[in-house]
Formats: sequence, C-alpha cells, structure tokens
Amino acid sequence: METTEELRETLIRKIAERGPIPVADYMAASNGCYYASHDPFGVKGDFITAPEISQMFGELIGIWVADLWTRAGVERIALVELGPGRGTLAADALRAMAALGRTPDVHFVETSPVLRKLQQERVPQACWHDAIETLPTDRPLVIVANEFFDALPYRQYIKTYGGWRERMVGHDGEAFFPVPGTEPADSCVPDHLHDAVAGSIYETSPAGLVIAKALAKRIGRQGGALLAIDYGHEDYAAGDTLQALNAHAYADVFSNPGANDLTAHVDFTALGQAGKLGGARVEGPVSQSFFLGTLGIAARAAALGRHHPDRAEEIGAAYHRLVDEEEMGTLFRAIALVSPGWPKAAGFQPGG
Ligand code: SAH
Repeated sequence: METTEELRETLIRKIAERGPIPVADYMAASNGCYYASHDPFGVKGDFITAPEISQMFGELIGIWVADLWTRAGVERIALVELGPGRGTLAADALRAMAALGRTPDVHFVETSPVLRKLQQERVPQACWHDAIETLPTDRPLVIVANEFFDALPYRQYIKTYGGWRERMVGHDGEAFFPVPGTEPADSCVPDHLHDAVAGSIYETSPAGLVIAKALAKRIGRQGGALLAIDYGHEDYAAGDTLQALNAHAYADVFSNPGANDLTAHVDFTALGQAGKLGGARVEGPVSQSFFLGTLGIAARAAALGRHHPDRAEEIGAAYHRLVDEEEMGTLFRAIALVSPGWPKAAGFQPGG
C-alpha cells in the first residue's frame, strides 16, 4: 500500500518530469491513498457522515428503497451502494427492509481494501465491485450514494487575464501550490462564465457526471433508480469549494497529499442534467431536511426515543444534526434519477 511519503515522492517526480498536474489528478491520487490506507470515519477519524450519526438515516433509506421496489411491482432488484464507507447505511437499510419482508441482493462499488473489510463485517452477503461496469445487467438496480460524488476527482478552471486555464498543481522544491495551466481552456467553461472576473474559479467533476449518466442509462434499460445524497449547490458559479478535512478540522488542500480527505461541493444541476442525458427522470434536488422529514424522521426519532429512554437525549441530538438548517439539513441535498417506467420516488414532494 502506498504511504503518504511515497505518494509525495511520486507526485514531485511527475511534476518535475512533465510540469504541473491537473487538480483532478492530484485529488484522485490523494484520495486514492487516503481511502486505501485507513478508516476515516467517526469521532476518532477525520469526519462523520449521516449514517454514522444515527441508524435512522440508513433505516429511512431502506424504507425508501422498499417502498419504490413494492410500487414498481417487480420481483427482484439489486440494491447497489456506491462508496459504502463502513457499511453502516447498508446494514441499517437492510434491517429496515427485512422488517418489511424485503431482501434484495446487495452489490457494493468500493475501491478501498480497508473499507471493504469493514463492510464485509457488517454486510457479509454483499458482492463487491471495483467499478460500476460489472454491476448485474439482468434486473433493476436501486442505487444509493451518500457522500460518494463529493469524493470523486474535480477539475478546476481559473480565469486569468489571458482567459480561462485549467488549475494545476506545481511543486517548488518545498511545497505543492496551485498554478494556472498554460493551455487556453475557455471551451471547457460554460458560456455564461466567459466574462467572469480574473481569479474566478469554475469546477466540475467529469468523473461523477460520467458515472451518473452511465447509471441513468442502466436504470433506463433495466429499471430502478439512483438516490444521491451529498453536500452541494444548484449553481454553476459557486467558485472554489475544494476542501481538505483532517481530524474534524479544515486543512490545506495542497499540503500533505494522501493525509486529508479532499472533497468538493456536488453540482446538483449538472448531476440532474447528466441523469437526463442518460434517459432518466430527475426528482429533486430537495434539502436533506425535506427528504428525511417527508420520509418521517420525526416519528422515527420519537419511536426510538420511547424504546430507548436511556438514549433519548442522544437520539434527539442526532435528529437535530441531520435536519436542522445550521447543521446538515440545508447544505445536504437529495436527488433521484428514476427509470422512466418507474413510479415517483418518495421524499421529493410534500406529503410523500
Ligand atoms: N457512504 C459512506 C462513505 C462516504 S466516503 C458514508 O456515508 O459514510 C466515500 C466513500 O467512497 C468511501 O467508501 C470511499 O472508499 C469510496 N470511494 C471513493 N472514491 C471511489 C471510487 N472512485 N470508486 C469507488 N469508491 C470510491
């Protein structure tokens, strides 16, 4: 397994040989090393995600899947999760689905060997894939992706006095630093940003959009849906959102590649467009607060609290963390790409 020291040496050598590398290549190499080497989640890790905050999150997603599956009227589905982390969401979802008499085949798309091992402990019956291409082709796919798209490589473009350039990463013998590329890149940026002021940044995740479009095509052909929940925006001109997290604190994106979690805001407008191009119907995006609220998180929190009076305070705190505006409620959004022949998904319109 590559250490951060080895990664640093590799990147420095590459930059010395060929010049600065795209931010996307730096991000891919850094996250590849980061996720391959350790379990980043929880209090002791670098960040905490919704399924790690409370079992309610995975349970409600399980109910969402079971509801859509039942109303679609098909016998079998494959439940797919992209980047399942510790396997917590899937374990909670499968338990909730089993209570409703629904047991799907489970397929995980995961590149990290360390996380695969943790997932195996929680969901031993799963089948693992390195990429989406090997997912089953003979039945509908109901796909869940929580905080997956934000971790894929992002390309960044920066407006200079000489026009748009791709944002690259150089190394000056001591440190990595961002620098505009030398090739004109105006054609890579949407038209309405052509006159943006110097210093403006446009970012896009071709890797994520390719996956969204390919999966939309698959669910169009096979039936099913993709539910993506992530933090992000619906606005092209959001600027530089690339961030590094380490031990629950922000770190410098360009120092210590491989040691920090690098993510960027998901562009939900672009994700929806990619889904449409692939032939899917798009539902949402809506805020996480709206989505979980419509699926009944308040009732679930109250019931859990009654069953576990000793944990009532913790359950209440988790509920607020997931839905409050100043917590994850507004910044996080949910979007669904649904097979045109399938019914409306729950959670995207008031009352259901
Ligand atoms: N869904 C989990 C984990 C989110 S972190 C949760 O909510 O807790 C991102 C996850 O995506 C990790 O499991 C990471 O190993 C995985 N991942 C990152 N890049 C990937 C890629 N290119 N292909 C497959 N999995 C990837």
